[in-house]
Amino acid sequence: MEKHTGKCLCGEVTYEVSGEPVSQGNCHCIDCRKNTGAGFATILFFKEEQVVQLSGETSSFQYKADSGNSKIKLFCQRCGSFVFGTNSGREGITTLYVGTLDDASFVKPQFNVYTSRALPYVKIDESLNNFEEGRQ
Ligand SMILES: [Zn+2]
Ligand SMILES: [Zn+2]
Repeated sequence: MEKHTGKCLCGEVTYEVSGEPVSQGNCHCIDCRKNTGAGFATILFFKEEQVVQLSGETSSFQYKADSGNSKIKLFCQRCGSFVFGTNSGREGITTLYVGTLDDASFVKPQFNVYTSRALPYVKIDESLNNFEEGRQ
């Protein structure tokens, strides 16, 4: 099975994911912009059991998303990089932002969500599955 590794900025938190993501796409919501500090986020969704943290200590931050779901972000205690996320609306799924992967060349976003909030400079790929708000 294909394996991919990743780490936070300082390198203390490391992880390994096995197999293909359940889904992957770009999110243009404000929360993702705040979390990443970037114009939009590319997110990979894995089953919990596909993701193994290998080293480092994380702290967590819980907040309520637009959808009303409760989200938890796990970030490196030392450098603050967000490494893993969970969402009460997606039981058993761990999310990763693409930036923590060591080699993200396999990533192929399938969708864009919250395109209604996309920044003017961001070009949306119209060939993908796109949603003005969240999915469902
Ligand atoms: Zn770190
Ligand atoms: Zn988002």
